[in-house]
Parts: sequence; structure tokens; C-alpha cells
Amino acid sequence: MSVLANTTNHPMGLDVERAEGIWIYTTDGKRYMDMISGIGVSALGHGHPTIKEAIKAQVDKHLHVMVYGEFNQSASQSAGQKLIDLLPDSLDSVYFTNSGAEANEAALKLAKRVTGRSKIVSFHGAYHGSTHGALSVTGNEVKKSAFRPLLPDVHFINLDDPKGLQVIDDNCAAVILETIQGDAGMRVPSVKYMRALRQKCDDTGTLLILDEIQCGLGRTGKMFAFEHFEIEPDILTLGKALGGGMPIGAMCASQSSMDLFTHDPELGHITTFGGHPVACAAAGAFIDVLTGADETSTALSLTRIQQHGEHIKARLARGEGVREIRQIGLFFAIDMGTPDRVQKVVEGCLERGLISFWFLSCPTAFRIAPPYTMTQEEIDAACDIILAAMENTASQ
Ligand code: PLP
Repeated sequence: MSVLANTTNHPMGLDVERAEGIWIYTTDGKRYMDMISGIGVSALGHGHPTIKEAIKAQVDKHLHVMVYGEFNQSASQSAGQKLIDLLPDSLDSVYFTNSGAEANEAALKLAKRVTGRSKIVSFHGAYHGSTHGALSVTGNEVKKSAFRPLLPDVHFINLDDPKGLQVIDDNCAAVILETIQGDAGMRVPSVKYMRALRQKCDDTGTLLILDEIQCGLGRTGKMFAFEHFEIEPDILTLGKALGGGMPIGAMCASQSSMDLFTHDPELGHITTFGGHPVACAAAGAFIDVLTGADETSTALSLTRIQQHGEHIKARLARGEGVREIRQIGLFFAIDMGTPDRVQKVVEGCLERGLISFWFLSCPTAFRIAPPYTMTQEEIDAACDIILAAMENTASQ
């Protein structure tokens, strides 16, 4: 019996010994191909050597020295600069947090502070985290109802439905949206809709917060998912993959907006551990590998992510019982039509040594989000396993 809190009564429960590349090794001598990257975290596989080296070097220099923002620390300065270099000019300041949810909390507060307004618009199906503010803008009623009251003045609209844009008005502080909805089962809005949304925010002085905690940093085949729509957010939140396996989130905005946290009230948003030097050292190394600035690792390319994504989609589309595959880059929802079939496939994959997973708000599909570093051979071996797990599920 574990002393640790459970989050479900039926956890996958693998006893992990170590992890390397695409593999997780368990104490019973088995190994599992991690096709979900620990839910979008290990985008470069487990224990990438460049990231491990950066962590070790930082551990030898210093760990935590002071709460966020008071001292200058090269690890966070450097990671922040590398991130800003990837972003549009309007996003020229970073606030590092410990997690994705905290990045969204910071973003919501900043939007209120910038606009002096309180109304927030979010989307059905959205997932933004489990803390009170992030949960308030999450769309899944089942997950929220036991925890009310949550934040007031939050309004939900349907993704890709232009009629809902009417809800965005001069009272709105922010619209918060996952650029590609992940836990709703990979929902990709149309370019037309996203541009109309951007325009409506501009017209009403509402800040557009794009949550790319799951879909950012290469996952969709672009560095940032908003590039698919040729729009830019006012605030961008990141997390998961950013730390290369270390806990970190980031809230990116303009310097002029971010400066508002320094007065009225002073210390308008603070955190003890946000921007931890070891997590930031890992984030800097992650960006180096992703952008090719790290010459010691094999070059990754966004085109390769797109090509691998399309290859996997084409192979899995032939699987028994597959109703629909929603895919962009290496971000997949494979819809099997019923939760029972999903259960069979996820269990069948696990029995065959491959980790896939469920969605929070899409019971008829399962997810895969493989590491970007997978070789063609590894991808084909993974597809073989998933296809085998799908066999005989169609009739159930
Ligand atoms: N936003 C999105 C889109 C996510 O997928 C997640 C986590 O799954 C979060 C926010 C919350 O991030 P964290 O679990 O690091 O708090």
C-alpha cells in the first residue's frame, strides 16, 4: 500500500526503475515504449543527454537561492532569452512558474491587471489545469462541480462556432484557449475562426491568452501552434515539454504588461520556486536541442515531426475499428467510437509493451503523443503494436 495519494482507483501502476529514450523500464524486468511522452513532457525522449548534462552542471553551481525575481540568476536569464528569441516581438518578457496550471493562473491575473476587467471567456472542452483559477476556465463540468464556487464571470463558448464570439465584449479581460484543444481529443479550429477570434479580441480590447502547454514547442509540427493560424496571442502559456522532464511553466507577454505586476500592488504575482535554476537549465538545454543550437545532438526538424505524424496517421487509419484520427504533427486522438474499445486498445497496448492513454474529456478516443526523437524503425514497431491491439475490438 502506497503512502502517496491516488488520483484514480485504477492507476496504470507501473513500477518504474529507469527511463531512457522512448523506453520506460520497470522493476519486473519489462520495458514499455512511451508513446505519450509522459503526457507531452518527454518530447526529446527520457533522459536526453544534453538536458542531463545541463542539469548536472547547474546542480554543481547552485540550487534555489532566492524567491522569484529578486536575484539575477544566469540559468533563468538564459532560458528566458532563448524562449523570447523564438517568439514574436510582442512577446518579449517571460514569467517562469513551476507548472502549466500556475502559468495559466498568472496569465489570468495579468489579463485582469492589464484591462481592469474581470470577465473571462473560455471554451467547452478546454483543459487549463487543476488549481482553482485554471479549473474555473476548464470546460469539463464533471471535473468542476464538486469544487464550486469557482471564479465568477467565466463564460464558455463552443470552439469553431462564430456565433459564440458575440460573448466577447468590452467587459472581457481575456479569452483563454488551447490553440489546439488537447484533452478534448485534439480539436483543431479553422484558420478563419482563429482570425475572427483574434479580430474580436482586438475590437473589444480583450487579451487573447493561448495555452500551448501541451501543443507548443514543436508538438504540432510548428514551433508554436498559433503559427498554423498566422495569429499571435497577447499572452502565451507553456509548460510540459519545456523542462525536458523537469517541472516548469512559462507565461510570456509584453514587457509593458508584465511590468504591471511590479506596482499596484507591488509583488502582484509571486512564487518561491518559479524559475528554479535547475528547471531553467533544463529548459535552456531543451530549447537548444529543439532549435538545433546544440550541436552534439542529432538535428530535429519540424518537417520531420510533420512527416512522422502523417506516416503514423496513414498506418493507424488502417486499424480495425478506427472511426477517425485527429492529428496535427505528433499530436493524436484516435477515435474508436466507444469507451469500451478505447479501454481494450489501451490495455492491449500495455500488455504488448506500449503506453498509450485516455483523454479527460473525450472518452471515445485514446491519445498518443510520441517523442520527436523516435526513429522510423521505432515508429513502425509502435504502429505494429497499436494495430495488433486494435484487432478484434471493432465488433465489441
Ligand atoms: N493546459 C493544458 C493545455 C494542459 O494540457 C495541462 C496539463 O495537462 C495544463 C494546462 C496544466 O498543466 P500542469 O499539469 O503542469 O499544471
